[in-house]
Parts: sequence; C-alpha cells; structure tokens
Amino acid sequence: MSRTILRPEVTSVAWFKKEKYSTLKPPQMRDRIPEGLLTKCDNCYTALMTKDLEENLRVCPKCGYHHRLPARERLALMTDPGSFREMFTNIQPTDALHFVDSKEYPERLKAARKCGFDEAVITGEATINGRRVAYGQMIFEFVGGSMGSVVGERITRLIEHATANQLPCVVVAASGGARMQEGILSLMQMAKTSGALARHAARRLPYLVILTDPSTAGVMASYASLGDVCIAEPGALIGFAGPRVIQQTINQILPKGFQRSEFVRDHGFVDIVVPRKDLKRTVALLLYYMTGQPDESMRAAVAEARVTEAPAHEPTGAVTAEA
Ligand SMILES: [Zn+2]
Repeated sequence: MSRTILRPEVTSVAWFKKEKYSTLKPPQMRDRIPEGLLTKCDNCYTALMTKDLEENLRVCPKCGYHHRLPARERLALMTDPGSFREMFTNIQPTDALHFVDSKEYPERLKAARKCGFDEAVITGEATINGRRVAYGQMIFEFVGGSMGSVVGERITRLIEHATANQLPCVVVAASGGARMQEGILSLMQMAKTSGALARHAARRLPYLVILTDPSTAGVMASYASLGDVCIAEPGALIGFAGPRVIQQTINQILPKGFQRSEFVRDHGFVDIVVPRKDLKRTVALLLYYMTGQPDESMRAAVAEARVTEAPAHEPTGAVTAEA
C-alpha cells in the first residue's frame, strides 16, 4: 500500500484528490468527548478509559503502574462494606504557633477540608473479612497526609484502643511527613505514636502497616516503619528524606529505583510488596497466621483442612475412656 502512495507518477494534482489522512478531529468533534472520559497513565502514557482504570483499582492494565487511590476508595478496598466506624473525631487541630506561610494556618485547614475529610487521618474500628480490627488510614488529599498533632493523637488513641480491647491494628500510610505549620508539636508525635505501639506489642497483639505512595519523612520514621509486617504497594515512594535532597547532599547519582517499594524490600526495609488487588486478602492471611484464629472467609477451608489432617485411628485416650 505504502508503495502505491510513493509512486513517482503521483502528481501534485493527485494530492488534492486524496482522502484526508489527518487524525485530528475538528473542534466540534473534539468537544463531544466528555471531560474526564480518558486518563493518561502516569507511567506508560497510554490513554485509558477512566472507568476501566477505576474498576481496575486505578492500576494501569497495560503496565501495572499503581496510581494513587483516593481515600474513600482505599477505605472500601481494605475494609468490609459499611463496617468502618470512625472514632476520635472530637480531636481537632488548633493553631498553637499562629503560623503563617503563604496563608494563615486556619485558612489552610479550611481549604483542605474541601476534600471531605477533617484531618489527614481517619481512625476507628472496622472489620476485615469479618475480623474486628482497629483501623487507621492516612488521607493524602488533606495537606499531603502530613502529620500534625491531630494525626499523632488520633493514631495514638487508635493504638491504645486496640491495646485495651485486644485488637489487631492495621494502618495505611500515605504521607509527605510532619506538618511544618505545627513545628515541634508535629515532631513530638513520632515519639508518642512509637510509645503507644511498644505497649501494643508488649501485649503480643499484631500491628500491620501498609505503605502506599508516598510514605516518607516523620510518618515513615515512626509508626509507618514499626509494623510487625511492613507491606508496600508496588512502586511506592518510601523513605525519610526525598531522593532529590539526598542526591544534592551526597552529590552522587542515586541507583535506579532508589526509595521505591521493590528497592527498599530488596534492602530489608519492608517485608513484602503486594499488588493492590491482593492487599486485603494478604492482611487477612497475616492476621490469621499471627492470631491463629481464622476469619469468616477461611473458617470453612480451615475446618476442612483439619478433617483431612486428622489421624485415621482414634487416639489411645479416647478408646480407654469408652472402655
Ligand atoms: Zn501504564
């Protein structure tokens, strides 16, 4: 076909008779594509149907890239439908330092609340496959998931609630670090949350943390790295200082994939990298391994396995008792 087009006898006149090959649509046609119908993958740049991407938990079907998941979708992914009961909502931020950057801190908080959340974390009780857990989830939409005094206090109370009620604790991290508008008050949350986790661990209760993109700085340097098992989503940025700061400080080119989930797993900083679709199942399995108690989804399978594993003959004691 292409040869035909390139034949020398094609005169300039012929070009005028040719069909138009342009793929650009006239403006009125372009306007007919509704806004938000297509989303470009941040990694492979494939244009994807937004609906398909959302149904695939915002994981690119072409390259597997995990886009950030909005907080409400994350909550629906990790917990049983309608099971989350929010707690500690009475803890609200104050402007103790009267901090002003490009705008006053109370103004910044007011603007941030437009995302539908009142702070950068939600905490409470939920069930995962029917198992009761203390559940905390950071809200990246709210000032970059930054940890101020409210985040620290809510997380601490969540852990203390878990300790008092003998519950496993599951926390999903998504944070750029401490909230600079609260200065030292933010940094104090690192010690406070870590202390609460030590008391939770002393009661031999499981604590699982799921690191999503990004899990960095003060949050990573406290409760986000203290999980009995640290689970990470593929490709998430995980670290303390960001790669640009490190590169400028040490004045060296950083290795490929530096501070991404797979890199930090290979260097022992996280335990497992789990695709988004398998996260809930993995958490449920880990809680089963750590507590020895199967949840609703595995009770039948565990009972069946026990029957299969049972000895073919009656134990000696049982025979004696009957005799
Ligand atoms: Zn992609």
